[in-house]
Amino acid sequence: MISPKKNVQAMSRYDPPLEGRRDKLRLDFNENTRGPSPRVLEVLGSLTPEIISTYPEYDDAYDYFAKSFALDRSRLLACNGTDEAIRIIFNTYIGEGDTIVLPTPTYALFGIESTLAGAEIKEVFYNKDLSFPSSEVIAASEGARMVVMVNPNNPTGTAVENDTIREVAKRAEIVLVDEAYYEFNQRTALSLLDKYDNIIVTRTFSKVYGLAGLRLGLVMAHPSTISTLRKVASPYSVNSLSLLCAKATLEDMDYINAYIKEVMASRTQLIEGIRALGITAYDSRANFVVCRFGDNAKIIDEELRKRGILVRDRSSYPLLEGCLRIGVGTPQQTRTVLSAIEDILEVL
Ligand code: PMP
Repeated sequence: MISPKKNVQAMSRYDPPLEGRRDKLRLDFNENTRGPSPRVLEVLGSLTPEIISTYPEYDDAYDYFAKSFALDRSRLLACNGTDEAIRIIFNTYIGEGDTIVLPTPTYALFGIESTLAGAEIKEVFYNKDLSFPSSEVIAASEGARMVVMVNPNNPTGTAVENDTIREVAKRAEIVLVDEAYYEFNQRTALSLLDKYDNIIVTRTFSKVYGLAGLRLGLVMAHPSTISTLRKVASPYSVNSLSLLCAKATLEDMDYINAYIKEVMASRTQLIEGIRALGITAYDSRANFVVCRFGDNAKIIDEELRKRGILVRDRSSYPLLEGCLRIGVGTPQQTRTVLSAIEDILEVL
């Protein structure tokens, strides 16, 4: 048996339940539940053999990313999903013994990458009401190698203010702001990039744009950071199809904006509906809501699954005992999950 390096031995495997989801109501992975812009499918229908048999060309893609996000292309790096972006950032900047400040609970990958790098994680817990522990994070960031802020956070749905990010940027060497769910919150740290060259922002096409299957993410940072990251990134990790589809979706922002509006209304409907059942639903700035079912969480998760509705049990996370994370889809999908939960609760 070949034994892995020490840091890999220390890692636990991230094994999200990704199989067998296709015919279900998928409120478990924070995806777009309506599907991508119809223009994406049109583009895929017009592919030529040349596009498939040549390596990807990136020039055009960077031009329209720059235009769409109003950033110079020297500030952009496209990656195979944010997950790859995070890995490249850690591979580039994080080494043995570095301190990573991690507001907790959050997206699992940051813990995994920290362990893989041999870094030391300094967890700072969210407040009991799941609001962001600003003063604690600011204090912990003094001299830290990196502070990670997911804004809004997965799974809590919590937003972080730019004032806090600014204070952290003054104290830590690197600030990683993961904006995977930015579109549902509409507040970004991009305006801080000019003044603070140690802030790195990531975005994804997996959520609001509905391209999770194509794997595309972006890093936005100071040109010198992007230039350094390019040394570590593999040259063709983003495929030609995702670039064409990203362009198609960015040219159809009416469709995306209508979906954002729909999800925001549906989020209010979900939170109010859950609270009307006497269950705690936490405020959320993202496209999912944490609901505290207590001892019933596991059975509700299982019963929903039997009815073809997938949600995510987050009970094992700190602060989230007895909590399910429910994705926000269309108003019709929210009605479906609410009425299923109501039915289940009635017979418990
Ligand atoms: N960051 C956060 C906070 C996420 O929740 C996710 C997906 N669950 C990702 C990054 C990964 O996104 P991608 O599909 O772009 O790799």
